[in-house]
Amino acid sequence: MIARGRSPALPLPMDQNLSTSVQYVRGVGPRRASLLSRLGISTIRDALFHLPFRYEDRRTSAPMAELRIEETTSICGKILSAAVLSPSSRNPRLRLLEVVVTDGRGFLKAKWFNQTYLKRLFKPGQEVILYGVVKPDFRSRDRLFSGAQSFEMINPEYELIDDSDDEGLQLHTGRVVPVYRTTEGLSQRQIRSIMYRIVDDACRDLRDPIPRRVIGDLAFPSLAESLHNVHFPSDRFTPTEFGRGASPFHQRLAFDELFTLELGLAVLKRGETRKKGIAFAPDGSLASRLLSRLPFRLTAAQERVFAMILADMRSPYPMNRLIQGDVGSGKTVVALLCMLSAVECGYQAALMAPTEILAEQHFITIHRLVEDLGLAVRILTGDRRHRDRGALSSGEAHIAIGTHALIQEGVSFRNLGLIVIDEQHRFGVMQRALLRKKGANPDILIMTATPIPRTLALTLYGDLDYSMIDELPPGRTPVSTELVPESRKALVFSAISQEVGGGGQVYVVYPVIEGSEKQDLRDAVTGKERLQERYPDLNVGLIHGRMKAREREEVMAEFTQGRIHILVSTTVIEVGVDVPNAALMVIIHAERFGLSQLHQLRGRVGRGERRSRCLLLSYGASEEARRRLDVMVATTDGFRIAEEDLAIRGPGEFFGTRQSGLPDLRVSNLLRDARLLETARQRAFALVEEDPCLENHPLLRRSLEEFWGRKIELFKTA
Ligand code: ADP
Ligand code: MG
Repeated sequence: MIARGRSPALPLPMDQNLSTSVQYVRGVGPRRASLLSRLGISTIRDALFHLPFRYEDRRTSAPMAELRIEETTSICGKILSAAVLSPSSRNPRLRLLEVVVTDGRGFLKAKWFNQTYLKRLFKPGQEVILYGVVKPDFRSRDRLFSGAQSFEMINPEYELIDDSDDEGLQLHTGRVVPVYRTTEGLSQRQIRSIMYRIVDDACRDLRDPIPRRVIGDLAFPSLAESLHNVHFPSDRFTPTEFGRGASPFHQRLAFDELFTLELGLAVLKRGETRKKGIAFAPDGSLASRLLSRLPFRLTAAQERVFAMILADMRSPYPMNRLIQGDVGSGKTVVALLCMLSAVECGYQAALMAPTEILAEQHFITIHRLVEDLGLAVRILTGDRRHRDRGALSSGEAHIAIGTHALIQEGVSFRNLGLIVIDEQHRFGVMQRALLRKKGANPDILIMTATPIPRTLALTLYGDLDYSMIDELPPGRTPVSTELVPESRKALVFSAISQEVGGGGQVYVVYPVIEGSEKQDLRDAVTGKERLQERYPDLNVGLIHGRMKAREREEVMAEFTQGRIHILVSTTVIEVGVDVPNAALMVIIHAERFGLSQLHQLRGRVGRGERRSRCLLLSYGASEEARRRLDVMVATTDGFRIAEEDLAIRGPGEFFGTRQSGLPDLRVSNLLRDARLLETARQRAFALVEEDPCLENHPLLRRSLEEFWGRKIELFKTA
């Protein structure tokens, strides 16, 4: 790399410099700044972390006499001639710039369509590097260089040797070249030149916010070196490693990002644990009365997790705990025991579910269990926002069950001590902080069946404690799952007859409520009619999200009591619904459902002693859908399914990191960098332990605030 005539550094001290708008970078200006902002680049910092998404190896240039057709390569030569032609009589406005280049042993013709303005760049005698796909040049074979094979490149990338445009640097050819995500109006060449200026400038006196103590032993290259090389790799490095984001330079930047992420979580967690919470002192009376009424004993895992939660509740700091347990592992009863423990101490408890139907189901179950313990349970969903509010604010209700409506404005509690959040693994850091601000630091418990590999859980819930119910209640028979192609649909009907004949009940799940002209899908409403026609002696029920809460409750109650034999539904029954006598599930258009969704749906059966089956009826599956269905047939292990799902969908979509309220990750990848994450987490937590407010690390503190942006405000709550 030849560097001449550098531009002066921006006059601001470095740490402010990074927040400077890119508009003020030489060669940018307001118009390009607005193009860059479409890429999420407003400041110098944004630009530095706008990494190339791939690299092209343009280091070697092939001798022109030895070019091969269809090969993508660089060539280097002198311009012989440059001419603008109108090659097509049919399209007289088409202009072609034709430049002939030679390296003394061969010739190549470069052609640019409708870019005649380039002509002023290409003067005879000028040396140039071109990069592109080699094509045979049929037309010239006889005319110009008869006999010799001759070649052309269409719209190649170019670079003039001694290109005053880029201060004599060779950026676009003759090296490993970065390729950036860009936007219309900003060419690859333009963004690359801009990036070079920014990176080169910023790296000159970049101060590294990560203390040497933190990474000294990790053998990473310096921050400046890393940024420079990630954008403009020096010749020594292999582009394949770079392409995978696996170079030491990429890893260093990924570490910085993960470290800053974890640092924020550590600060947040420390703040939480220093807040004053409720030190519950339950005597266990209500809990043991409940236990004596249950028809089963807790599993060892349930006992263990309940004990952990009790310890949290007794401590004077607010609890923040995540409970993971596969579908059917019995989380509800654990949650209920915790709620009773809060009630014992004179506090109210709330259970928040993701859907109305699940809230209703919890209400029915819990109501039945605690009614004769003399407790008042109320439900609050979108449908009946007003009815029971009074009972919550007066304290008359001991337990409240509901949806998000529970935490909406206008809902108040007399003394809310515990909030259980069911089946919402995406209920993130920020939402919890807001929730807690509403009350007087109640304890929070999150329960989820979505099994997440540990390291990933640590990040998404980096500020949470974490425990796991890793055991299913005894006597469960694993659900056997079969894939049924449309041609063997009859199998479904015989399975239904057999199941109902044996005293069991059936779920039939459809992807949509009603048919539409746009989509050729079987739907729940029609499906219900068909099934009723086919089984006139059976009671077929229908439940979906557009029904009124009261209607749904009636249907669910009838199904629970066994008066409905076949329940046709949409995914409203996806989470939580619990009817042990239902042992057959049929999923129509199984190819349409995601893996986690299928696992959740299947979790509705296999809850009792009956031998359970799940039939996946598929109407032609894509390659990817086929892979999902095969996983379902192969295993019932939620962890394996989650891992497959993660692999198929990628972490962004899987976690919905947006919803979780975590900052976007631009450099690191939670899957690829799992080990790095572990290290970053340990070191971040250790540092915060020592220097809780980062008083001794002002630069780091600044970079933390910038990374977390406005979200950091939440850290400051007293
Ligand atoms: P999930 O973890 O999926 O929320 P649930 O709490 O809905 O699971 O429990 C599933 C079923 O298992 C319920 O019918 C519940 O009554 C039952 N159950 C819970 N714990 C036990 C246990 N220890 N032994 C037997 N059955 C249990
Ligand atoms: Mg549940």
